[in-house]
Amino acid sequence: MALARGYAATDASKPLEPFTFERRAPNADDVVISIKYSGICHSDIHQARGEWGNSNFPMVPGHEIAGIVTEVGSGVTKFKVGDRVGVGCFVDSCTACASRDLDIEQYLPGLVGTYNAFEADGVTPTYGGYSDSIVVKEGYVLSLPANLDFAATAPLLCAGITLYSPLRHWNAGPGKKVAIVGMGGLGHMGVKLAHAMGADVTVLSQSLSKKEDGLKLGADHYYATSDPETFKSLASSFDLILCTVSAELDWNAYASLLKVDGTLVLLGIPEKPVPVHAFSLVPARRSISGSMIGSIKETQEMLDFCGEHNIVSEIEMIRMDQVNEAYDRVVKSDVRYRFVIDMATL
Ligand code: NAP
Ligand code: ZN
Repeated sequence: MALARGYAATDASKPLEPFTFERRAPNADDVVISIKYSGICHSDIHQARGEWGNSNFPMVPGHEIAGIVTEVGSGVTKFKVGDRVGVGCFVDSCTACASRDLDIEQYLPGLVGTYNAFEADGVTPTYGGYSDSIVVKEGYVLSLPANLDFAATAPLLCAGITLYSPLRHWNAGPGKKVAIVGMGGLGHMGVKLAHAMGADVTVLSQSLSKKEDGLKLGADHYYATSDPETFKSLASSFDLILCTVSAELDWNAYASLLKVDGTLVLLGIPEKPVPVHAFSLVPARRSISGSMIGSIKETQEMLDFCGEHNIVSEIEMIRMDQVNEAYDRVVKSDVRYRFVIDMATL
């Protein structure tokens, strides 16, 4: 056991505060990581504030982790001391199930979240990246491309893979028209990744206030959803719409923007059901689907793709003690485009 320092939410209604806890001693297949940077995902806020009804306290959030290997177990073969590595949204999964070969472990029972979860023993809580160190099985540790800015790779571990996976699954590429709804932490990564894959990229944002940024990051078109003309002029025009918004939207209006056989994919998770009229789908064989992060194999593929295309997140670096203020700013969509905590300030 080793003592770790971090920041934790102790209750859904309280700000995060300094917290000391124990990390397990490394097993033969474990990697010990000194955490250097930790991204702030909107999911951290949903869980720390008890908005999903599944919160366990005390909770050390953080699943966009970039760090350096400081120790490896005797059976570890893929990593050595000094390597730049990442950890994303889960640190263990079902190993018994045959479906694991399909590289869809994020959808299988037995998934162990990086925080707000319990290890495979069912009793030991997992604590996340807002801390100075973490111990993770080597099969759940990712290699970070050396050419990328270290701090700005952290958000790839959640925001990056969450957009990369559906873009690949629904074959985004040349000749495909892709819309990204919401230019936030997830959305801005979607713009960069879809552009690098060769798709024609449109941002659908609440206003035009981030238009200049969106076009710079790779969007070909940028529209305000507050303008009713947007829904008229873009009717039946997209192969794929990735929605990163967790607020309630007029889902029929968004479905109407899909071409025949087009798909609207939910990435943000609205609290209430998503009502859609059959007439919004049936006459054009449209689909509505959802997608959650990506497998370890696909996450490594995404990181390698980002290395080749020089893609990182746009970040605002903060001190650890600014985390509560940062949470309030994310909720107000006042971040360009992901907060990353410099763990040296812990
Ligand atoms: P974020 O940085 O806050 O971005 C969300 C964006 O949604 C905002 O930037 C804003 O974009 C738009 N938005 C906010 N309020 C809105 C409203 N009332 N109406 C319409 N649009 C609104 O959050 P994030 O970190 O990208 O996460 C987005 C959601 O995805 C969260 O719910 C998170 O829990 C979820 N998530 C899902 C997965 C997954 O695997 N599926 C993974 C990570 C996160 P504009 O200002 O451009 O309109
Ligand atoms: Zn996340």
